[in-house]
Amino acid sequence: MLNELYQKLEDRWIEMVNIRRFLHQHPELSFQEKNTAKYIADYYKEIGVPVQEHVGGNGVVARVEGALPGKTVALRADFDALPIQDEKEVEYRSTVPGVMHACGHDGHTATLLVLGKTLHEMRETLSGTVVLIHQHAEEYAPGGAKSMIEAGCLEDVDVIFGTHLWATEPLGKVLHRTGPIMAAADRFEIVIKGSGGHGAQPHKTKDSIVIGAQVVAELQQIVSRRVNPIDPAVVTVGSFIADNAFNVIADSAKLIGTVRTFNPEVRDFIEEEIEQILKGACLSGRCDYEFVYERGYPAVVNHPEETELFIQSADTVDEVHTVEEIEMQMGGEDFAFYLEHVKGTFFFTGAKPDNVETAYPHHHPKFDLNEKALLIAAKSLASATIHYQDKHSVSKAVPK
Ligand code: MN
Repeated sequence: MLNELYQKLEDRWIEMVNIRRFLHQHPELSFQEKNTAKYIADYYKEIGVPVQEHVGGNGVVARVEGALPGKTVALRADFDALPIQDEKEVEYRSTVPGVMHACGHDGHTATLLVLGKTLHEMRETLSGTVVLIHQHAEEYAPGGAKSMIEAGCLEDVDVIFGTHLWATEPLGKVLHRTGPIMAAADRFEIVIKGSGGHGAQPHKTKDSIVIGAQVVAELQQIVSRRVNPIDPAVVTVGSFIADNAFNVIADSAKLIGTVRTFNPEVRDFIEEEIEQILKGACLSGRCDYEFVYERGYPAVVNHPEETELFIQSADTVDEVHTVEEIEMQMGGEDFAFYLEHVKGTFFFTGAKPDNVETAYPHHHPKFDLNEKALLIAAKSLASATIHYQDKHSVSKAVPK
């Protein structure tokens, strides 16, 4: 079964590339992916795969029912793009000004569509059910995963697998990790309210810039002095707004930043510490403040048994040369929500373009990926699916 599946995927690699390029030319922003969702649904409808549209928003869920009894495996691909101007010099570059598939979600979608079609074609020899979760809005909180789960996309699902194509890792490498693999990503916003005035009369003001600067400096001590060094954490202030004339003391200052953590206790602790520092600085500077802490995606935490199964199964894919553990990534992913509900694992598929020393990173205006990686991602997901079915079926032997 698996070898036949691999062969069919190889034969259809060009179809994956064509779909990916079409989507690449027609990207849509998070929560606005109406045409992409329709494209996905139409693809399944045309080949007779039952499909559910508008799942928790623009989400699309298709189901391939195998003829043989078995478990239900979910596979997930996201399909939103980013507010970035495509600066690549290729014929398949984005046709939409200021919008671009700069994270490879077009590739994820192409991979899953063709895999879904192939599994459907082979359903007479397929055990169990495969749920194909096409998720909208991964890039922008609150994300699409949460609402799709609330709409029932994980009902009766036993396990979930997902991959991210990764352009900075070499082709032929897949990367896995048991336990935390991607960080919880939160956002905070601080407003320091002083009282402004003439730049020559500071004694008659409460300078929000000075207090803001003090807060930024002191926030650096959270990770360096307060969090246990064995717990990875990031506190970044990405924006400090207090725009005034050179000779005016600012009335208020706004600081916006992000917090990345893996341990939920550290996450709580950092939220409290930020406010503590803010409170202290504002007390001494006689300023007021507003503090908003928005929780984004939780950490992606892979389950051990399913990760082990993935590692074994990846070894059966010819094009995979290296199966390697990846270090914890401080980036966020709303795949985290699925893993809070069902067991599974999220892995990376190396997709570095040919003939480049260093690939452009994800979210870069010149980002591109190696399209040969689409086949590797499809085979890796297929392999995990079939191995999982075989492991949990009593009557069938492990595939050759
Ligand atoms: Mn992404």
